[in-house]
Amino acid sequence: MPDNDLHLVNVRTAAGIKTEILVREGRITALGTALDGGGMTQVDGNGDLVLPALVDSHLHLDKSMVGLPWHPHAAGPDRQSRINTEKTIRDGLPLSVAVRAGNLIERLVVHGTGHCRTHVDVDPELGLSSVEGVLEARDHYKNAITVQVIAFPQSGVLACPGTLAVMEAALSAGADLLGGIDPAGIDGDVEGQLNAIFSLAEKYGVGIDIHLHDGGEPGAAEVAAIIERTKAHGMQGRVAISHGFCLGDIAEAAADRLIDGMAEAGITNVTHAPGGSSIPPVKKMHERGVAVAAGNDGIRDSWCPYGDGDMLERAMLIGWRSNFRTDPDLELAYHFASQAGADLLGVSDYGLAVGNRADFFTIPTETTAEAVVRHPQRSLVVHGGQIVARNGLYEGGT
Ligand SMILES: [Zn+2]
Repeated sequence: MPDNDLHLVNVRTAAGIKTEILVREGRITALGTALDGGGMTQVDGNGDLVLPALVDSHLHLDKSMVGLPWHPHAAGPDRQSRINTEKTIRDGLPLSVAVRAGNLIERLVVHGTGHCRTHVDVDPELGLSSVEGVLEARDHYKNAITVQVIAFPQSGVLACPGTLAVMEAALSAGADLLGGIDPAGIDGDVEGQLNAIFSLAEKYGVGIDIHLHDGGEPGAAEVAAIIERTKAHGMQGRVAISHGFCLGDIAEAAADRLIDGMAEAGITNVTHAPGGSSIPPVKKMHERGVAVAAGNDGIRDSWCPYGDGDMLERAMLIGWRSNFRTDPDLELAYHFASQAGADLLGVSDYGLAVGNRADFFTIPTETTAEAVVRHPQRSLVVHGGQIVARNGLYEGGT
């Protein structure tokens, strides 16, 4: 039997229907009861709920210190202190970017994440070293997870001269998209940074995902500028604003105008339920037509000590911060961490349906809402038809 064939029995769908799943050559070929596995090895799902793979739409694989001894948080409370602290720490870490990224990837996989998007630092000092490390890890784990790489100007584009050239080189090296960061707060030149990254994106035909921490009116002006640029460059559907804290801390009517503008320009918001900043009104954004995806952001790095790569835990945090209590609201938080992420990352054939990729996990909960709230250990994680983790242990892809 090929190792991406599978006959999973005794599981329940989110709709509460008992089912079996037949997988051949990495694709779902049948869903239903009393399926003929044709001699395939059966795997018993023990009555667990089965859900489509989780999607982490905002990570920093290159920064994580997973696999290293505990590193007490050393940065001050502001963005610049975190950037500076990271630079003093990163060169002395005893494990390479590729190994640390791999360690975190294994945590993602055991929690049922099948697809992720990571921002990777580029600047003239680092050159392509971090991008190359993450690309090495991506290749090593290619049978367990898909990894989308963003060339990310953590220290700014104009504020850190030479970075744009490294971003361009990163695309040639294998990065998939371009990043950006606080055009006002970091570069002090909104038009300058947006000109630079939108022109480069247009030249290479790639998407953009911009970190926007700037709050209040400056942040709102940047969102408006990004909407305008997206439309002017014909990049509707290919631009994301990560964080967008300002959408949660400006006057409601002003936020509503920006939300409608984002919907019209097809701009996705990626949230991680920030601890020290406002969270955008994600339910309202979803209802008004803005796609909202979710990501863990920094995990055990010089920015953030928290996290273990679990997107169900992240969905819970988004629900907690958004005051989600009903099952439909909790299911919306799950949607941000699954289907919406797949849409953002362009994962084709996603979801539990015949013909789609066999990327799913099983979990001992009654419902999706309970999975978000309690997020117990995943029993089985399947990627491309292959079992890649079982009971919290990584089994790898081959
Ligand atoms: Zn980030």
